[in-house]
Amino acid sequence: MAKVSDHIRQANGKTIFSIEVIPPIKGDNLKNLLDNIEPLMEFRPPFIDVTYHREEYIERPEPDGTIKKIVTRKRPGTVGICAAILHRFGVDPVPHVLCGGFTKDETEDFLIDLNYLGIDNVLVLRGDPAKPFDTFKPKTNGYSYASELVRQVANMNRGIYLHEGETPMTPSNFCIGVAAYPEKHFEAIDHDTDFNYLKLKIENGADYIVTQMFFDNRKYFDFVKRCRQEGITVPIIPGLKPLTTRRQLQVLPRLFHLEMPSDFVKAVEACENDTQARQVGIEWCIQQSRELTKAGVPGLHFYTMGKSDNIVKIAQAVF
Ligand code: FAD
Repeated sequence: MAKVSDHIRQANGKTIFSIEVIPPIKGDNLKNLLDNIEPLMEFRPPFIDVTYHREEYIERPEPDGTIKKIVTRKRPGTVGICAAILHRFGVDPVPHVLCGGFTKDETEDFLIDLNYLGIDNVLVLRGDPAKPFDTFKPKTNGYSYASELVRQVANMNRGIYLHEGETPMTPSNFCIGVAAYPEKHFEAIDHDTDFNYLKLKIENGADYIVTQMFFDNRKYFDFVKRCRQEGITVPIIPGLKPLTTRRQLQVLPRLFHLEMPSDFVKAVEACENDTQARQVGIEWCIQQSRELTKAGVPGLHFYTMGKSDNIVKIAQAVF
């Protein structure tokens, strides 16, 4: 199978179509997820990202009135889903690999599993704080920042494993993606600081960038311009999510720390129900996608959030 960077190179300037999927809630069937991917195969995605969801800390009231503290993962299965995507569609899966919830040794084991499965791509992330906490805390002997984890993957690509001294081992061959935020990561004090740490991820070995979703293309264009000024030359793939409900007008800015353009807000507010809002979301995303494609972006990466009918309509209009 191939690396994301190779897929971009082989596209020869043509914008490629890719998607991100989320593992089902624990106990749900994988069939729904795969059935939702199926209609998108018409648009030949060369790779499909699969998110990773770390542990959550839950307090559950028991019948005897006591509170039981539980540590659980609501959406396990990232590696299995990657293997299923590879097997069923023959498409390169891109598992997300997190700092959060992992020690360096657990990360190494995880990467070895991916390597043995023939998975050549990873999207390296710090991860969100474990729910219900507000701040990110690394595991003892884990990483605090994605740049550190990028270094571990890049080392493995050079045959340098943990605790193995100077003797070079069999190198892995991962293409490394990282995340970036056209509207700034919410914890960064300013854009300059955020850029410096993004640069560090690239210096440590990242091959390409995928952006957080945005609804105003200007934010992406300004961000790419600034990256190029700062000497970041890797491909920068825009991440897009079509709005699907009226409520998302409030939810998405709060969760993802982004601004909605006023024209878009007005159009969604004028909708009488979610069916209309979903249609406005599709049309807005088509306009965004067309402008980005015209500007020659390497790819359009769609956050499917478990549904594909709207992405099919967008892809039909754009690809
Ligand atoms: P980092 O690059 O480590 O940055 C985090 C913050 O720390 C930033 O504010 C940065 O400026 C700052 N920083 C970085 N390095 C340093 C340093 N050395 N010293 C001080 N400050 C520093 N989350 C999941 O849990 N699972 C997923 O599957 C997932 N997929 C995602 C996919 C994409 C495309 C995107 C954009 C996000 C995804 N996320 C996912 C969310 C992501 O984990 C969060 O946004 C997280 O808060 C930051 O991750 P990061 O890799 O960008 O972190």
